[in-house]
Amino acid sequence: MKCYECALIGKDTDAVGICIVCGKGVCKEHLIHEETPVWEGDYPVELKPDREHIKRIVCLSCHEALKDNCLFNEVC
Ligand SMILES: [Zn+2]
Ligand SMILES: [Zn+2]
Repeated sequence: MKCYECALIGKDTDAVGICIVCGKGVCKEHLIHEETPVWEGDYPVELKPDREHIKRIVCLSCHEALKDNCLFNEVC
């Protein structure tokens, strides 16, 4: 799989991870590795604080979307 973010800017980079939110491949420069809320069920998703504190991979755009929505309890 190729990095989706790199593809947008015309680069061809192998993905090293997959965003848990949108399922896009991301290279190491475009992934965010951090603790995220837990997704349960389908849309509308219910977000719960992550009690296990497992670091997950999200892409940059999903990371921004999550922050905008202030869903990162520890961060906001
Ligand atoms: Zn990339
Ligand atoms: Zn994503």
